[in-house]
Amino acid sequence: MAAKKTSKRKNPVRKSPKDFKPSKGDLQDAPGRATKILAGLKKAYPGARCALDYKNPLELLIATILSAQCTDVRVNIVTRDLFRKYRTAADYAGAAGEELEADIKSTGFYRNKARSIKAACTEIDQTYGGRVPDSMDKLVNLAGVGRKTANVILGNAYDTPGIVTDTHVIRLSRLMGLSGQTDPIKLEFDLMDIIPKKDWTLFSHMMIAHGRTVCIARKPDCEHCPIQAYCCYGQKNLQK
Ligand code: SF4
Repeated sequence: MAAKKTSKRKNPVRKSPKDFKPSKGDLQDAPGRATKILAGLKKAYPGARCALDYKNPLELLIATILSAQCTDVRVNIVTRDLFRKYRTAADYAGAAGEELEADIKSTGFYRNKARSIKAACTEIDQTYGGRVPDSMDKLVNLAGVGRKTANVILGNAYDTPGIVTDTHVIRLSRLMGLSGQTDPIKLEFDLMDIIPKKDWTLFSHMMIAHGRTVCIARKPDCEHCPIQAYCCYGQKNLQK
């Protein structure tokens, strides 16, 4: 009698998460799934918050600029001394470029970051009397500040809801079938349509926490994911 064929596949996940793109059908029921996903994330990450250490909007702006291509842990180590040395926008604006570069060197891309910090702080000092502006229009006009950084400032320092489309939020939103966009701004607007405004900031924190702990880029742990039932990638690729 012929031996019964057995599957050699140990991991039931078939498609690479990197190659996944939600279908039109997936996106049609995104609003309903978004509600369930939001509830599931709230249950899973009740303490989700901004991982950067800061005490005021200026410190958050500096930390966010430094966090590009750098871990939050590293940024928090660097800002511990940095925030003691530079207290105001004028302090950064007046700093010698080379000295500021040396102070932030370990966060990477330090020349560009020092340039952005000095330019943004010069404008904050001269145009806004040293206070970081609290509107999207004004923030995105500062050097080195795009919508993502502006939303971090608005959502965390000024209690004005904003969706932060960082790399985790973009990746997870596509896997979950909440948006098919790869462009951060288009994806942000897709999410703004299906996530209640009051939850925009919290949603970003929870997605980042989920992307760091469960929905890891190379190998999302779909089998143990609390929102797998509402996730397009999880549903399609765990089918046996
Ligand atoms: S089921 Fe969970 S872990 Fe898997 S892709 Fe979806 S969100 Fe990520």
